[in-house]
Amino acid sequence: MAKSVILKNAQEIELIRKSSLLVGKTLAEVAKLIEPGVTTAKLDKVAEEFIRDNGAIPAFKGYNGFPFSLCISPNDVVVHGFPSNYTLNEGDILSVDCGTILNGFYGDSAYTFTVGEIADETKQLLKTTKESLYKAIEQCVEGKRVGDISNTVEQHCEAKGYGIVRELVGHGVGKQLHESPEIPNYGKRGTGMKLQYGMVIAIEPMINMGKRNVKQDNDGWTIRTQDGKPSAHFEHTVAIGKTTADILSSFAPIEEVLEKQKVLI
Ligand code: MG
Ligand code: MG
Repeated sequence: MAKSVILKNAQEIELIRKSSLLVGKTLAEVAKLIEPGVTTAKLDKVAEEFIRDNGAIPAFKGYNGFPFSLCISPNDVVVHGFPSNYTLNEGDILSVDCGTILNGFYGDSAYTFTVGEIADETKQLLKTTKESLYKAIEQCVEGKRVGDISNTVEQHCEAKGYGIVRELVGHGVGKQLHESPEIPNYGKRGTGMKLQYGMVIAIEPMINMGKRNVKQDNDGWTIRTQDGKPSAHFEHTVAIGKTTADILSSFAPIEEVLEKQKVLI
């Protein structure tokens, strides 16, 4: 990860927005297919085709050797799960993380979906995690610090007794998928790097129903909860604003699909 922050000009921010919006549209295509009986490999295939049809490159495919276009992480998998012939079951939750490269710039966004009817306590986990993301985004204005973002996620989720994953963090986004600074989901208010216009960051709370501890599978990628309880993950790419945050990715196309399916939480 680069040590110094690469500031973006207005034109570059618009290019990151284009890439990020394509990510949201791709996740909306995935949302249309989510139902019991579908394999996660199918979701990956559809996403890759959609990304390429739109003149972009799936950013994760080949990134540090990651073999797929999407990270698909069901239930106790926190992030970085491999698409596979795993078949979705009623009651599953599914984090789908997607990245694209369009005109040389990355977009990065993730959404946790539900499969059929899910437990009320799991709905609460998803709702709280998404809320924490939007509360954190409110901190994305000049003069605030990274610790203000981190602490906002931590406070909101810890109040519900959830475990906040510490091993994985958000990050700067630009011509690289992972730029400086790191954006942890825990921390102290008023500490860390000062935010300024031109910074573009991905904020991605990873929140566990149970304890915060995670482990990695032998595939070298899949991160899951140690206690086997479910984990939620939502992510937006955001430009730091002078007076208000500018969310470059969008859940609108995804939530339009979920609304139609009557499964929007
Ligand atoms: Mg991501
Ligand atoms: Mg990310």
